[in-house]
Amino acid sequence: MELNNTDAKSFFKNDVGITYDDFILLPGYIDFNIDEVTLETQLTKGLTIKRPFVSSPMDTVTEAKMAIYMALLGGIGIIHYNNEIEEQVGEINKVKRFENGFITDPVVLGPDNTIGDVYKLKESYGFSGIPITENGKLYAKLIGIVTRRDIAFEEDRSVKLSQVMTSDLVTARAGITLAEGNKILKDSKKGKLPVVDEKGRLVSLMSLNDLLKNEDFPLASKNKEKQLLVGASISTKEEDKERLAELVKAGVDVIVIDSSQGNSIFQINLIKYIKNKYPDLQVVAGNVVTQAQCKSLIDAGADCLRVGMGSGSICITQETIAVGRAQGTAVYNCAKFAREYAGVPIIADGGIANIGHITKALSLGAGAVMMGSLLAGTSEAPGEYYYKDSVRLKKYRGMASPEAMEKGGGKRYFSDKERIKFAQGVSGAVIDKGSILQFIPYLIQGLCHAMQCLGCQNVSGLHDSLYNGTLCFEARSPSAQREGTVHSLQAFTDPTFGMLQSKTTSAK
Ligand code: GDP
Ligand code: GDP
Ligand code: 5GP
Repeated sequence: MELNNTDAKSFFKNDVGITYDDFILLPGYIDFNIDEVTLETQLTKGLTIKRPFVSSPMDTVTEAKMAIYMALLGGIGIIHYNNEIEEQVGEINKVKRFENGFITDPVVLGPDNTIGDVYKLKESYGFSGIPITENGKLYAKLIGIVTRRDIAFEEDRSVKLSQVMTSDLVTARAGITLAEGNKILKDSKKGKLPVVDEKGRLVSLMSLNDLLKNEDFPLASKNKEKQLLVGASISTKEEDKERLAELVKAGVDVIVIDSSQGNSIFQINLIKYIKNKYPDLQVVAGNVVTQAQCKSLIDAGADCLRVGMGSGSICITQETIAVGRAQGTAVYNCAKFAREYAGVPIIADGGIANIGHITKALSLGAGAVMMGSLLAGTSEAPGEYYYKDSVRLKKYRGMASPEAMEKGGGKRYFSDKERIKFAQGVSGAVIDKGSILQFIPYLIQGLCHAMQCLGCQNVSGLHDSLYNGTLCFEARSPSAQREGTVHSLQAFTDPTFGMLQSKTTSAK
């Protein structure tokens, strides 16, 4: 038997920086079906998610829509902070309101409100099932409910709700379990179930639609209250403590401290501040690429580390300031150290251009991958599509590009107060990838195929084989890399949402 299979320890022994494309993984032994592969992973010390996918906190990648669908599909989105505090909090609220068990702060109106008021609420929140209480507030006596059907055929918007509401109500008693509430909801065949206390006062609301969402997305990332998980980024600036407080109030689950070089006194102090003031809030610290950086941030209290410097597709850091690290080497070294030192998971951030890179990042010890460019062209990403040379595109820009910094995005690079703006990113465009409702399942399926080929049924098994030396790595020569992608064809059709390296030769 050949003896030159290389485990990760020997493969990363020499001092050359390794990128994802520089190596290939050797196949393992398959003794399970592909549908037995699971992708559950430790995102942070305190949070697991069902799929190892995170959308990057960038203003052309993650706002509420992206975060909602990332969470429904089992990953998580991190809302960017290139905006006012109220705007970022508004995005968090939208995610948190999207799905619920008991809605503990339902929007309520009173009998003297009008149909027009319901339409206004519908415009800002998206729903129109409104319980009516005596004084229009929660914890007051419930006297009716107004739903779409009650108002749809009434043209006069000044009609009072007391005239159109349904007052013959099916209600549930406070104290019931979620499963009991769901049963009443299903049996009643109504869309909404108000929950009342012994005096008939409204305490919460349930919605049939949430049951349907749970059926459609059984692996969604949710908290105990069945609200979707969501993250938000902040900078290390003193004034962002106010932003943080508002995000916590809105129920954010994960805070990502967004800094290109995480090993700073500013970040260390901020982590300590957060862990002291909000001990349960999960803190992703970073970015880091060396073990010394990891140690500083773990010692300060980080629950997860974000790994990558200069590997992002829009990034010019390595060229402009000559600091950073090849992403494969960074992920391997940081993940190994963080696991051995404190059991802290890491996220591989930047440079993910295809499913192979996701597989490699996880194989190097990452718990999850953070994606910018790969998600930027989807319909859930902020921004409008436009056409150039008949190709449908969406804008994608680095947060330290001149354009994003103009809007306040330089905070990540300690450069927002500089007189001369020093860009570390570019703006560009990516091609239309359709909806993540198709794209993420495609990534999931590809990743499951990869895991099966490696003989690993789950992410923790993959990490075990990385560290016990059974996972084998091999360097790729330039011609091996050429051989490993489409070659010797005059034209071909790319079946991979445009993720093939040789896409320049692709004819669609
Ligand atoms: P467990 O993992 O077996 O405890 O089940 P879950 O916690 O997923 O669900 C407990 C109950 O809540 C079941 O009746 C689910 O159908 C229901 N459930 C799960 N998610 C939601 C949701 O988002 N909204 C509502 N209303 N019910 C949900
Ligand atoms: P409606 O029938 O127009 O009220 O809306 P849907 O039933 O289609 O959607 C309601 C969705 O919004 C559910 O997923 C709820 O969990 C969510 N939601 C969040 N907060 C509220 C609220 O205060 N009232 C209502 N009605 N729904 C809410
Ligand atoms: P991508 O997935 O597009 O390869 O990389 C996304 C990652 O690049 C982000 O998560 C972030 O870490 C990093 N990034 C975002 N904007 C900039 C920028 O302007 N400059 C640099 N150096 N990195 C950026």
